[in-house]
Amino acid sequence: MVIITHQRDKCIGCNYCVEEAPERWAMSQKDGKSILIDGKDSKGFFTVRVHDDEFIQNYYAAESCPVNIIQVKNSSFSI
Ligand code: SF4
Repeated sequence: MVIITHQRDKCIGCNYCVEEAPERWAMSQKDGKSILIDGKDSKGFFTVRVHDDEFIQNYYAAESCPVNIIQVKNSSFSI
């Protein structure tokens, strides 16, 4: 199980996460920030649990984020 968290209010809308993991990220037409697909909002932190096979592309999404607001964790390690 992989847990992805997005601190959405700090997103600068660069689109890098969408380029790295387009099946899990999209850009909002309303405010220009990215959306963590299926993410549930808790006080501005959007979180989703996904299968292990989504880890690598979302790891790269987190690595690419210039404001470091994406966190990806699984049972053995985290970034
Ligand atoms: S990479 Fe980071 S700043 Fe850029 S759109 Fe994604 S979450 Fe927002």
